[in-house]
Amino acid sequence: METNQAMVPHSLSARFEGSFAYLTVKDRLPTILTKVIDTIHRSKNKFFEEHGEEGVQAEKRAISFLSKLRNELQTDKPILALNDTMQDVEDWNQYMQRQQALLGDSEPISWFKSPWLYVECYMYRRIQEALKLNPPISNFDVFKEGKTQSFFDSQQAIISLCTYLQELIKTVDKISEKQLHENFLKLLQVSLWGNKCDLSISAGQENAQKTSPMETLHDLKCFILVDDSDMVWSTLMSLRGSGDQDKSRARVDVVLDNAGFELVTDLVFADFLITFGLAKEIRFHGKSIPWFVSDVTKHDFDWTIMQVMAANHKWMSMSGAHWKRYMKEGLWSYHDHPFWTLPHEFCDMPLDAPDLYSTLQASDLILFKGDLNYRKLTSDRDWEHTVRFEKALRGFQPAPLCSLRTLKANVQVGLQPGQGENLSVQNPNWMTSGKYAVVQFSSPHQKH
Ligand SMILES: [Mg+2]
Repeated sequence: METNQAMVPHSLSARFEGSFAYLTVKDRLPTILTKVIDTIHRSKNKFFEEHGEEGVQAEKRAISFLSKLRNELQTDKPILALNDTMQDVEDWNQYMQRQQALLGDSEPISWFKSPWLYVECYMYRRIQEALKLNPPISNFDVFKEGKTQSFFDSQQAIISLCTYLQELIKTVDKISEKQLHENFLKLLQVSLWGNKCDLSISAGQENAQKTSPMETLHDLKCFILVDDSDMVWSTLMSLRGSGDQDKSRARVDVVLDNAGFELVTDLVFADFLITFGLAKEIRFHGKSIPWFVSDVTKHDFDWTIMQVMAANHKWMSMSGAHWKRYMKEGLWSYHDHPFWTLPHEFCDMPLDAPDLYSTLQASDLILFKGDLNYRKLTSDRDWEHTVRFEKALRGFQPAPLCSLRTLKANVQVGLQPGQGENLSVQNPNWMTSGKYAVVQFSSPHQKH
């Protein structure tokens, strides 16, 4: 909502020279575009086999569109209206006008003058436009190769995680409350650190989980800057039937971030919640188009479950078989909504995607994975680190929610006085290195 515009800090933007936003727009985004162009180019033979000469022509046109896009970005040209036939075109073009109105009429909005959140989302949407405008290759996922690779590169970690899960499931009838709590914290943290495996921050460079995830948890604990895990736990416990494990009333929504190892950690955590009676239903939310290099689409979601099921490892394939059954029985479900791939701050959701907002209001707990969700939760603004998380949410409070995020962008709220300053001394890149993380909770029922 734009009503409090004057009350909130400015949006992070490439107009602040030397800032992380500036470096991202200047260096990282063009690198990603170059890789996309290369991927399309390398797929030329595939397009020819599938669509003949028409496929090759489409490949050429898409590449020339994207080269032009890269040039627009690098020379700070005006942001252009979208021009394809996807259903969100009107939303994007209205948002563009909104941004123009904020800047005033003196100059057109451009890549380095606009909010970073907006232009970064816009770049991914323009990549989609390049494909949508060239029909035979419209549905090509330029990031699929990297996502697939990151899954296979994490095989050992996935095996050890699935083995841990299946060993744990054997104890379901005799597990003590204390052990349940301990394992809840462990698997929540695995899902948290799974968020390190992000291909957009490394501009598509390999970024897989190579070590055993359970063994590193203890050493990583000191890098969790805010840890509200126990509020997540008590939220779920309060919805649990007394004494009877099967009676949880909790519906948990997981707003996913990345495919590859991270998605597996999310599925393992979700399996744990269902199996141990901490949730009765899990709804996963993913992207409807390829997004931020490694984000989960419906195809990635289904593919991952199939791959885990088809693995040549007893506990891994058993995990996959469980997950397929949860999907079939509706205990788990996958949803996408165009709002997740719009540039809007989440406080805009009640007005700009009221259907999604009311869906989320029916949830008992929403887990927001990753950095982009955090940036949208906090409107990607230059907040003081000590500002309360609730304040940075600017009224976005559909249900109890928790951000599970490793820090990869320079926005972080809810810290103790002095905490941010100390971190800056110890490690100047603390907000962008992915080394630190938060488990940050907020509830509309909370008393302040
Ligand atoms: Mg991502």
